[in-house]
Amino acid sequence: MKWQGRRGSSNIEDRRRRGGVRRAGGIGGIAGVLVLLAGLYFGVDTSEFVDLGGTGVQSSSPAEITPADERAAQFVSVTLADTEEVWADIFVRQVGQPYDAPTLVLFKGETRSACGGASAATGPFYCPPERKAYLDTAFFTTLEDRLGAGGDFAAAYVVAHEVAHHVQNELGILDQVNQLRAQMSETDSNAMSVRVELQADCFSGIWARRAQQKFGSLEEGDIAEAMNAAAQIGDDMIQRNAGQRVQPHTFTHGTSAQRQRWFRRGLESGNLTACDTFSTNRL
Ligand SMILES: [Zn+2]
Repeated sequence: MKWQGRRGSSNIEDRRRRGGVRRAGGIGGIAGVLVLLAGLYFGVDTSEFVDLGGTGVQSSSPAEITPADERAAQFVSVTLADTEEVWADIFVRQVGQPYDAPTLVLFKGETRSACGGASAATGPFYCPPERKAYLDTAFFTTLEDRLGAGGDFAAAYVVAHEVAHHVQNELGILDQVNQLRAQMSETDSNAMSVRVELQADCFSGIWARRAQQKFGSLEEGDIAEAMNAAAQIGDDMIQRNAGQRVQPHTFTHGTSAQRQRWFRRGLESGNLTACDTFSTNRL
């Protein structure tokens, strides 16, 4: 992705030089449960990652910021600015209301949110009541090394996906869905979560198309990087890679094939109405 030399966003809250939250053991317990319930994640299996036991960071001193972190922060800032311009445009044309951009919290190690504690291991997420996305810059390394989804456009997809949850929030979709989910069985609630997540993937595809039109930012291989990332974080793939049986009723983000399909649908259509995951029988 071509990104250098473009404007960065002013909606970044940089907490990376603050001390981490001192805690005993991992980020399990009540904080961990809250994270699982309230945040909308990129699609990493948080149940696997949330409770890290004693391996979590114990220190309250600021984490070391590496050159890779700095570069990642700049990249995130430009990508976020790109989403601001693209979504402002789409809101005017397709929604008829102004777009109120989210804040993106950059952290390193751990931080707190209204949706619970966050650490690098929990993966990026969006916290609706705060209208903030949370991202540990070290997650990009996890994405590449642990999840097999390298490349800068895979990272851009992560940012775009969290911003897409904000778009859903702005459109009132999250409120409606949460009201419905509160009255559902766990299985039905999971199925509803899948529709929310696949729509976020579709919105990410819309963003990719519009960003290309606006900035000419795509390079050879970028779409392949995003499609690979979508495949690597499909619920079936994650369960398989963890040596578990694939259990569709536990899916919260959709299969690899579904995540790829909806990203592509957004990419090819550029249209919000093409991303209606709630009124289709074929996800
Ligand atoms: Zn998500």
